[in-house]
Amino acid sequence: MSNSPVPAYVDSRKVFLQQAEIEGTVPLERLARFRESLATDVADVQVKLRFSTNQSKQQLISGGLVATVEVTCQRCLEPMRIELADNINLALLSDEALVAGLDPDLDPWICQNTKLDLASLVEEQLMLCMPIVNYHPGENCLDKLGYKVTESGTKVTASETGGSEAGKDAANPFAVLKTLKK
Ligand SMILES: [Zn+2]
Repeated sequence: MSNSPVPAYVDSRKVFLQQAEIEGTVPLERLARFRESLATDVADVQVKLRFSTNQSKQQLISGGLVATVEVTCQRCLEPMRIELADNINLALLSDEALVAGLDPDLDPWICQNTKLDLASLVEEQLMLCMPIVNYHPGENCLDKLGYKVTESGTKVTASETGGSEAGKDAANPFAVLKTLKK
């Protein structure tokens, strides 16, 4: 895929008339809402969009997206890299009332003027394929980092949990391990 950014906006009249194909990257700066769900700004979002009109004169946007992003592991709270991929099959609708009659294979994209916001379109698709929770594969990512989890779920390094923590050990699930070491 191309490494240059896709335009932020396209003229919908033009792209459907030309049966345009647009491919390239979408910079994270244009994806503010999606960016909030990421752990870091290390991201690569590639998209390919084809604009066509079918026999029913429906304006279709098809294609796909591939993204590599870093999200927070819900177990160790460290960043982890995930890949997102999805097909795009949208029908451009001028009115929400038209959604009801839409082919079930198509998702609606409502746009009431000729200025088509490609970044929003891609962002919506990204949000849809983003997993709700993410965990490092395997279950020992905490061990690897040498972290212990406190009652509140916040992480502290092993060296910070000295004898002063002993009083809390009763309710700490890791207290058993500590006893075994002694
Ligand atoms: Zn993890």
